[in-house]
Amino acid sequence: MNEGKPAIRANMVVTLDYTLTLDNGEVADSTQDGRPLRFLAGSGELLPAFEEALLGLTAGDKLNLTLSPEDGYGEYDEEAFEEVDIENFPSREGLEPGTAIEVHDADGETYVAYISEVHDDTVILDYNHPLAGETLHFQVTVLEVRPATAEELEHGHSHDGDGHAH
Ligand SMILES: [Zn+2]
Repeated sequence: MNEGKPAIRANMVVTLDYTLTLDNGEVADSTQDGRPLRFLAGSGELLPAFEEALLGLTAGDKLNLTLSPEDGYGEYDEEAFEEVDIENFPSREGLEPGTAIEVHDADGETYVAYISEVHDDTVILDYNHPLAGETLHFQVTVLEVRPATAEELEHGHSHDGDGHAH
């Protein structure tokens, strides 16, 4: 055990490296380019099942974690498509399949949708996360665990030291 080292729990700021691999072996995401992930535990920034699996780990620990689609980004929903009038978009520029956009509904809720198809008069939006339906295989290395500062707790997210952007 790592006695004396701070362990991951709510209100700790965690820095880690991870690689996310899909069932087909494709690397979907990785921090190995020298930009580790830093987050405030308990703030809901990450997948809950991912964060839960990290609880109790300390700097230097490694974890291999597999998440089902249910614990990841959801099952793929064939119905989660919407055809909207292209007039709703300020410009046709940037309307490319795969592009993520923010959609606001009548109640002011914001959703992320992905452009699926672009037609002359309409755009088909896909509300599935790009990783919906995927089983997620994470290889995690915990780099640092420290208590959050008062400012971080107040803001509800981690800071990178000076000059963090909001
Ligand atoms: Zn802040």
